[in-house]
Amino acid sequence: MDECQSANQYARELLAWYDKHHRPLPWRQNINIYHTWVCEVMSQQTTLAVVIPKFSEFVKQLPTVYDLATCDEDTLRQLWSGLGYYARARNLKKGAVFIVEHLKGRFPQSYNEWLKIPGCGLYTAAVIASICFHEKVACVDGNVTRVVSRLLALSKDVWSSSGQAVIRDFANSIISAERPGDFNQAMMELGATVCRKTKPLCLLCPLRSQCLAFEKNCTELCPPQKPRRDAVDVELFALIVWRKPTDTIALAERTKGFLANTVGFPLMSKLEVLEVKTALKSREQLQLVELPGAFTHNITHHRISGKALVVRVVEDSNNAAVEDFWQILGLPQPFYWIANQAIATKLSTSLDKKVVKLFHNTLSCYAQ
Ligand code: SF4
Repeated sequence: MDECQSANQYARELLAWYDKHHRPLPWRQNINIYHTWVCEVMSQQTTLAVVIPKFSEFVKQLPTVYDLATCDEDTLRQLWSGLGYYARARNLKKGAVFIVEHLKGRFPQSYNEWLKIPGCGLYTAAVIASICFHEKVACVDGNVTRVVSRLLALSKDVWSSSGQAVIRDFANSIISAERPGDFNQAMMELGATVCRKTKPLCLLCPLRSQCLAFEKNCTELCPPQKPRRDAVDVELFALIVWRKPTDTIALAERTKGFLANTVGFPLMSKLEVLEVKTALKSREQLQLVELPGAFTHNITHHRISGKALVVRVVEDSNNAAVEDFWQILGLPQPFYWIANQAIATKLSTSLDKKVVKLFHNTLSCYAQ
């Protein structure tokens, strides 16, 4: 069998399997560029079980690229909550604004054009171009990397950029010319459901007869583990400024550090807490309460042990004391007041939600 026939055999067998076994996902019903774009960005690093309901709600609330381009930050945050990695939502919106402002709302029509959209990388461009425009361009994510590295029995360096280029070249060499979009989805689906990280279901695999790792009995070695950075332990304090008479809480968009570009409580180190205490010494209207209890949270390579501090504003005569305090500490600006009862609905990160839970669970300790 020549090389070309063999490549076709990969595609043929994979697509025959996909036609029988693919999962009926909402965005696969009718191909729509906007839906494909949104769902692919949502699916990166998030499981389909979480994505499916969020996707349906997202496209219901923001049915067009114009709606996405003009939606306010609050709405976007709410629609994205639970999906994590909020930077992806911001990039999606940036892309929508670009399409509306520079392309008059017309979607790019090819892989290379999609690569020019802010926030759109190789993977997203390949998915959209292959599914929506039948362009023969392979997409490479973690699932595809795993499948290809097993087909070729690659047990070394597949995660570096040169390793990823090898994976991409191979995927491009076997992609179906007739059904490139289905081929890409089939590769990802095979990786997710059959060629699993551990205990791949090789006996159910349509590519078994061409898989070198299966033949050599080394599937567990391919691909090699991603090089891991050790997690670092971090102590972090969340600052809850609570205007007791009106039962409102100050929130702001964090501009740097952990969870930058998300709205929530100011986060600070132990050293910065000392600055808070110093700043409060001369401000009688503001009282500091250190909440009992703690929370833990993991953010990319950081193991956070967190505590919360409440600055209780006892008089409501004016906002000046809080504004002054906020400014002196260099806390993120602007801040705004949210009713305590509604606070959970305004937060998008799970860390902030843990802080609120701690606050509400211990409210009786300091409400007098
Ligand atoms: Fe993966 Fe096994 Fe199929 Fe090889 S035979 S591609 S290891 S599921």
